[in-house]
Amino acid sequence: MVYVRFGARLLAAVLMLAVSYLVLTACSQSEQTAEEYLMGTYVTLKVYSPQAAVIEKTVERLREIENLMSANLPESEVGLINGAAGKSAVKISSDTFNVIETALYYSQLTNGAFDPTIGPLVNLWGIGTDKARIPSNKEIERSLRLVDYRTVILDKEQQSVKLPYAGQALDLGGIAKGYAADEAKRILKANGITSAIVNIGGNIMTLGTRPDGNPWRIGVQDPLGPRNSYIGIIQLIDETAVTSGNYERYFEIGGKRYHHILNPFTGYPSRSGLLSATIITKRSIAADALSTAVYVLGLDRGMELVESLPGIEAIFVTDDFKIYLTKGIIQRFDLTNPEYKVENSGQNK
Ligand code: FAD
Ligand code: MG
Repeated sequence: MVYVRFGARLLAAVLMLAVSYLVLTACSQSEQTAEEYLMGTYVTLKVYSPQAAVIEKTVERLREIENLMSANLPESEVGLINGAAGKSAVKISSDTFNVIETALYYSQLTNGAFDPTIGPLVNLWGIGTDKARIPSNKEIERSLRLVDYRTVILDKEQQSVKLPYAGQALDLGGIAKGYAADEAKRILKANGITSAIVNIGGNIMTLGTRPDGNPWRIGVQDPLGPRNSYIGIIQLIDETAVTSGNYERYFEIGGKRYHHILNPFTGYPSRSGLLSATIITKRSIAADALSTAVYVLGLDRGMELVESLPGIEAIFVTDDFKIYLTKGIIQRFDLTNPEYKVENSGQNK
C-alpha cells in the first residue's frame, strides 16, 4: 500500500486557498492571529499588538521569500539558478544569496550531511507529491553524482550563483523556512512588537515572553503520534525550536517508510536511528539547517556536533523511544509522554 500522508493535507490546503487566503482575526483587543498556507505548509502567527497591519506586512514578506526561494517555481531565483545549471551564473537578490551562502556554511560544518544541492534526489524520489516512488539504484547513482555542495560557484561581487553541471538543482527546503521565521521576527520587532509566536510548518519562533511575562511553552511533536501530540514541553524566551522528523512527508511500501530527509551519501532516506531531532537556539536559519543535518548524522555524531556549538541545544528522539538532551536544555524540558524515556544529559548513551 502506498500512503502519502501529505496528500490529504495538500488537498485541505488547496481548499483553504480557494476559500480565502488570509484569515485575520482580532481575538481580543491585543491578540491578533493569522493563518496562511505558504511554502507548502501551514503558517500561523500570534502577535500581541492591536495593529493588524504588522501581521499583513509580515505575511507579505513570507510570500516574497517563497517567491524567491521555492524550488517548485521555475520563475523563482532558485528556479532560475536550476534552469541555468551547466550553462550560466544567475544574479540574485541579497536574500537568496545569503540563504545559499549560509546553507553552504552548514554543509561544510556538517561535512555534507546538510547539502542544498540535494535537488536532483528530491525530484527523483518525489516524496510528498503524487509522483513519489522508489527509484532504481541506477537512477539514484546518476542523481547522486550531481549532489555536491562543493561544486556551487558563488560570486559575492556579482551576487551570482552558478551550478556548473547540467541537471544540478538547489533545494532550500531544509533551510529557507528558518530564514523566513527569522525575517518574521525581525519585522515584528522593528514594528515595536514585544510578544509574538510564529509557526512555519513546525519551525517555531518566539519573540520575547508570553504577554504575562512567562516563557512560551512549546510542545515537541511525538514522532509516532497524531499531529499536535507531544512527547514533552520546552520553555522558550526569544528563541526558536525547529524539528526534523521522518513523519512530516513520507510514503510506505511493504511496511517500510520512505521519508523526505535524504542522506546525501547514499541517496536514500536517512536511516540513522532517529525519529526526530529538534534544535533550540536564537536563529531559526541555523536551527533549520542543523535539525536536518543532525537527523542525517544520527545521535552520536549529531550530539557531538551540537555540544561543540555555543548557544545551540538539541533534543534527539531515537527509534527505541529514548530521548537524549544536550546539557543546556535539560532544565527546560518536561517529559509529558510516559512511553518515552529521557535517557541522559548527552554524555553517555
Ligand atoms: P527539513 O528537515 O527542514 O527539510 C527537509 C527538506 O529539505 C526536504 O523536503 C528536502 O527538500 C530538503 N532536504 C532533504 N534532505 C536534505 C539534506 N540532506 N540536506 C539539505 N536539504 C535536504 N512543498 C510543497 O509541497 N509545495 C510547495 O509549493 C512548496 N514550496 C516551498 C517553498 C519554499 C521557499 C520552501 C522553503 C519549501 C517549500 N516546500 C513546498 C517544501 C515543504 O514545505 C517542505 O516539506 C519543507 O521545507 C520541509 O521542511 P521540514 O521542516 O519538514 O524538514
Ligand atoms: Mg531543516
